[in-house]
Amino acid sequence: MIRLTELRLPLDHAPEALREAIIARLGITPGELRDFRIARRGYDARKRGRIALVYSVDCTVTDEPALLARCANDQRIRPTPDTAYHFPDINGPALASAPGFLRPVVIGAGPCGFMAALILAQAGLRPLILERGKVVRERTADTFALWRKSVLTPESNVQFGEGGAGTFSDGKLYSHVSDPRHLGRKVLEEFVRAGAPEEILYVSKPHIGTFRLVSMVEHIRNEIEAAGGEYRFSARVDELLLDENRHIHGLRLSTGETIPACHVILAVGHSARDTFASLHEQGVAMQPKPFSIGVRIEHPQSLIDADRFGPQAGTEILGAADYKLVHHASNGRGVYSFCMCPGGTVVAATSETGQVVTNGMSQYSRAERNANAGIVVELRPGEDYPDTPLGGIAFQRHWEKQAFLAGGGDYRAPAQRVGDFLARRPSTHLGDVTPSYRPGVTPTDLTTCLPDYVSDAIREALPAFASKLSAFALEDAVLTGVETRTSSPLRIAREPDGASPNTPGLYPAGEGAGYAGGILSAAIDGIRIAEAVALAMAGQKATG
Ligand code: FAD
Repeated sequence: MIRLTELRLPLDHAPEALREAIIARLGITPGELRDFRIARRGYDARKRGRIALVYSVDCTVTDEPALLARCANDQRIRPTPDTAYHFPDINGPALASAPGFLRPVVIGAGPCGFMAALILAQAGLRPLILERGKVVRERTADTFALWRKSVLTPESNVQFGEGGAGTFSDGKLYSHVSDPRHLGRKVLEEFVRAGAPEEILYVSKPHIGTFRLVSMVEHIRNEIEAAGGEYRFSARVDELLLDENRHIHGLRLSTGETIPACHVILAVGHSARDTFASLHEQGVAMQPKPFSIGVRIEHPQSLIDADRFGPQAGTEILGAADYKLVHHASNGRGVYSFCMCPGGTVVAATSETGQVVTNGMSQYSRAERNANAGIVVELRPGEDYPDTPLGGIAFQRHWEKQAFLAGGGDYRAPAQRVGDFLARRPSTHLGDVTPSYRPGVTPTDLTTCLPDYVSDAIREALPAFASKLSAFALEDAVLTGVETRTSSPLRIAREPDGASPNTPGLYPAGEGAGYAGGILSAAIDGIRIAEAVALAMAGQKATG
C-alpha cells in the first residue's frame, strides 16, 4: 500500500472529493486506484474562516512499484509503514505449563496495568491483576457519591478502582511520546475491539468520553479472563516480600494475605501515596521529579469555539474546540494549559479525606456548556519542595488540605472569578459563568491555597493567554482549585530491561512510576513492560 499525506480539502467537501483528490495527486486514472482508506484526518485552523481538513490516506493501486518510482522525490507519497504489532517470540503457553510456573502479577488495573495484563494474557502467560479499588460499575457509584453527596470512599474514587484514573475523563487518546514501533496503534486497535468508535484509529485528536470508557474497561477484563488471566478487586498491595538478595518472592495484601510472585508489574498510578511510602521504606530505588500545580479555568465553550473556528464554529466535523497555551512567566516559571476538556465538567478528584483536588472530564459528545482546562505552573524538587522521594507528596497534600479548608471543609472547592483573581481581591460571588464542579464551590481567595510564585505566574499568564484566545479576557471566567495531580511527583527507577535496579523482579511502569502522562502513553508503557516481563520469564533480557 501507498501512504499519501497532506491532502487538503475544504471542511464541507463532498464525499467523492477525497477519491478525486487522491487520483489527481497520484496522477493516475480512476481505474488505477483500486481502494483507499483514511489513515489520519486532522484540520488546519490557522486561517480563520478557511479551515481545511488534512488527510493521510492508504491506497492500493494497480502498479505500486512503478508509482513509487515515479514519485520518488515526493515526500508525501511513501510506502505505508508496517504498524502491525508483533509480540516477542517466547512461547508463552509452554512457559505457563512448565512445572513451578508462577503467574506474572500486575498491581493496578489502570490503562498501564490492564494493557500489560492484556498483552501477557494474549501471550498465554495468565496474569493475576491485583486492584485496590472496586469493579468499575461499583466504583462509578462511589465516585458519584462524592460528587453528589460529599461522601468520599478512600479506596474507590476517581483515582482508584478498575480502569484507573482516566476512567472518568475526557478520554483523550493522544500522546507525544516517541513510538517507533507503533505501539499506540496496538492500544487503539484493542480499544476499538473493546467498543471504542472506529474513528479513534484515524482522527488526529481522538477522544472517547467517560461512559464508553466504563464499558471498554469491562470488555478488556472479560478478554483477559477468557485468556486465563484473573482479577482480584479490593486487593491492595501493601508490601513486597523480598529474599536476602532483595529478589521479590511475594506480595502482602492489606488483608494480611500473601501471594507468591517473582515477576511483578507495578502500575499503581500517581495517587498511590501510601504504596510509594511503603516501597520507599522497603528501599526500592526512587527519586523526586518535577510536576506542576495550579487551578482549573472554565469558560463558555461557545467563546472558545468562536475564537478558534470563527464563522465555521459549530461545524459537526470540527466538534467542540480545544486549545493549548504556554507562557514563560517573568519569575522563571512555565505556565501551561493542562488536560483541556472541551464541553466538559470540572470534577472532584481527591482520593484522600480532607482534601480537594480538581481535574476535568467530558462525555463523547462534549456538549456541556463550559470548556475547562488546568492552568498549571511547573515546580522543581529541591527548590519548591524537599529533594527527597516523598517531598512532592507532602507538598501536594499541604495545598490540597488548604483547598479543602478554603472550600468550606465539606468537599466544595474554592473558586474565584478571573477578574477578582487578577485584581487580588477575594470573590464574594460568581458571575455569568456557572462552575460545573460538584458538590459545589465556595467563592473565595484562591491565593490561600497556592504558593505565591504559582499565583503570580498564573496572574501574569492569563492576560498573555488572552492575547492568543480572547475568551481568556473574560472576567467572569471561573478558577477552581487546586489542580495538583498533574503527574507523579516521583520516579521509580528502572533499568533498560524494565526491572528495578535494586529490587529484581519488580517492574515499575505507567504514570505513577514516572514513565507516562496520560491514558495512551500509560497503555503504551504497559505493552513495553509486559514484553520485558515476558522476556525475563523466558530467560531473555529486554533492551529498552
Ligand atoms: P492509573 O490510571 O492511576 O491506575 C493505577 C491503578 O492502580 C488504579 O486503579 C489504582 O486503584 C491501582 N492501585 C494503586 N495502588 C495500588 C495498590 N497498592 N494495590 C493495588 N492497586 C493499586 N489522560 C488522558 O490521556 N486523557 C484524558 O482525557 C485524561 N483525563 C483525565 C481526567 C481525570 C479526572 C483524571 C484523574 C486523569 C485523567 N487523565 C487523562 C490522566 C490518565 O487518567 C492517567 O495518565 C492514566 O490513567 C495513568 O494510567 P496508569 O495505569 O499509569 O495509572
